[in-house]
Amino acid sequence: MKYQLPALPYAYDALEPYIDKETMEIHHAKHHQGYTNNLNAVLDKYPQLADTPLEELIKTIDRQNFDANDKAAFQNNAGGYLNHKLFWEIMGPEKSSDKLLNEEIIKQWGSLDEFKKVFAQTALSRFGSGWAWLARNTDEKLEVYSLPNQDSPFLKGHMPLIGLDVWEHAYYLKYQNRRQEYIENWWHVLNVIK
Ligand code: MN
Repeated sequence: MKYQLPALPYAYDALEPYIDKETMEIHHAKHHQGYTNNLNAVLDKYPQLADTPLEELIKTIDRQNFDANDKAAFQNNAGGYLNHKLFWEIMGPEKSSDKLLNEEIIKQWGSLDEFKKVFAQTALSRFGSGWAWLARNTDEKLEVYSLPNQDSPFLKGHMPLIGLDVWEHAYYLKYQNRRQEYIENWWHVLNVIK
């Protein structure tokens, strides 16, 4: 087993009341574990890729010699593995923020509130399962967009900075169909942005 489920950097109930303990536990111990296991299963078939970082493999996925099924499995599960790893890291019970990134966001969107509005709308309008992203593009500029399923910004050669999981498994137990309420509450547990 090459990849292991990254430890959650806080307790399952640390993001209460905004994200409930049961959702966090299932999300981390079942969903993220599942992506990890499936990622290892597909990479087991390609030992020549064992030493290449996942980010690099995702960026170069079209140049790798995956067969069609394995390519889809790799895209979904390497994405699922990295997306969730970042998701746990950018959240936390103690609010802290990245000063330089905040300044850069304000420069680009005018204010943090305006950025949050754009990001939330992007997350809200993702049809079905997927993520909203703030990423740094190949021109070093910030971009907000959403991607379906577990597609990673690395597929576009971008560096993901902030990702919001809007799969129903991320919020359904507490919020049911109220994705907007989940998104609004998420700002309380997101570090990085003030
Ligand atoms: Mn998820």
